Amino acid sequence: MSEDSMRSPAQRIEPARLDHEDREELVAEARAAAQRAPDEARVKVKTREVAVFYGAKQALFDVDLDIRERMVTALIGPSGCGKSTYLRCLNRMNDTIDIARVTGRIELDGEDIYESGIDVVELRARVGMVFQKPNPFPKSIFENVAYGPRIHGLAATKAEIQDIVEKSLKRAGLFEEVKDRLNEPGTSLSGGQQQRLCIARAIAVGPEVILMDEPCSALDPIATARVEELIDELRQNYTIVIVTHSMQQAARVSQRTAMFHLGNLVEEGPTDRMFTNPRERKTQDYITGRFG
Ligand code: ADP
Repeated sequence: MSEDSMRSPAQRIEPARLDHEDREELVAEARAAAQRAPDEARVKVKTREVAVFYGAKQALFDVDLDIRERMVTALIGPSGCGKSTYLRCLNRMNDTIDIARVTGRIELDGEDIYESGIDVVELRARVGMVFQKPNPFPKSIFENVAYGPRIHGLAATKAEIQDIVEKSLKRAGLFEEVKDRLNEPGTSLSGGQQQRLCIARAIAVGPEVILMDEPCSALDPIATARVEELIDELRQNYTIVIVTHSMQQAARVSQRTAMFHLGNLVEEGPTDRMFTNPRERKTQDYITGRFG
């Protein structure tokens, strides 16, 4: 059976969606993003032969990938190719799925995160996560951000908590919009503000890596632009891995791009090279909208 006939109708190859101008624009954006990137960066997260099984079904096959420090790495590829599964390996979120089993080696700063002595709660503070749909706690704006530092014992006094909350909201580009309503529920904010609140919540516990699983897919174009700007700012301080279905978004915000297909890593490289001169035909076809 051909690869294509195994797909669901929605996944079958579609005619090219990108016209010439769109492609030129993508390339220009990828080049601009690359120019803002540092020339070289150390490896923050290293994965080797990472495989994931859901019960008997294998969803990820031997992924070897280096995630560079203080860069944005975009994970792209058609639906169901394993991007979220890979992302969830990086802070052991797959542990929360009963039938999931992860093999291979994942290192954060050279340390195996699947080792038996690892404190998973602490790991998830170091490697934070932002989900597709903004998911503030049913608490006030203030408490959404204060909760993490409190349970992690990062602040002893009220003043210290206030300081962390303010700094995190500022870093997430939300403080000015919410400073007069910190006691209102997080859910009273707009979708885009809620997503920035979730980013502030992740930042508050002092992460080194932030994982984002399609963080803009539930947002309108203006809120999306705001979050994309924020991602570009956050890169100064954090290593970011983002799953995205939008090639424009990958080109705009990332310096590195990794292309997945049917559970395999097809290739990874600087985003401008991936968009201008991919090594693999599959990447070229996906980027130009021939399938996906
Ligand atoms: P992507 O993020 O690229 O859309 P996913 O990582 O979500 O892909 O899914 C990869 C494969 O793993 C798919 O076949 C999907 O059905 C399967 N899968 C993902 N999550 C689960 C789960 N919790 N239980 C069983 N299968 C899953």
